Amino acid sequence: MEFAFVSGNPALDLAGTVGSRRDEAVDALSGPADLERWIAECDELPDRVRVGRAGFESALSLREALYRLALDRVLDRRFDRDSLEIANRTAAGPVPGLELGDTGLHITGDLRAVLSHIARSGIAVLADPDACLKECGRTGCTRIYLDRSRGARRTWCGMEACGNRIKAANYRARKRSSGAVADRGPEGAG
Ligand SMILES: [Zn+2]
Repeated sequence: MEFAFVSGNPALDLAGTVGSRRDEAVDALSGPADLERWIAECDELPDRVRVGRAGFESALSLREALYRLALDRVLDRRFDRDSLEIANRTAAGPVPGLELGDTGLHITGDLRAVLSHIARSGIAVLADPDACLKECGRTGCTRIYLDRSRGARRTWCGMEACGNRIKAANYRARKRSSGAVADRGPEGAG
């Protein structure tokens, strides 16, 4: 399964590894190997991190806590106490190391450092009163993302994952209702 890093924050991207949360949830992390790949693909995290069974379970519990907190924030309600406890405790762990070299940045650390970094990023965005968190506008997606666009007018988590699907569906609907091919395709605006 392809991972999407479109939420603007690693904590939200981790939460987004479960899609369609209110229908039949689809989990992109089915085991430790998937999490190792997700970590390697995430820009802010070390490339080679070993994940064992217990570590995987901790990561999933952090993921669900972060999702719950993000949803609480989107719905403007009090944070869930248990989720706060998990996020805060994880954030207190060691952080990844950063080394500058001629080839650029080298990030080091084990799974504990990875989870701590993710928790800290999540806490920072959830605590920021100016951060505009939204749930994707495509029905059934349920991904929460950070809208950094001007005037916060972004509607979808990512163009590829959801924006294009919506546009294609709208295009098909227009085509059906007009009985003719519209002059602008799904790639037209936007
Ligand atoms: Zn979406």
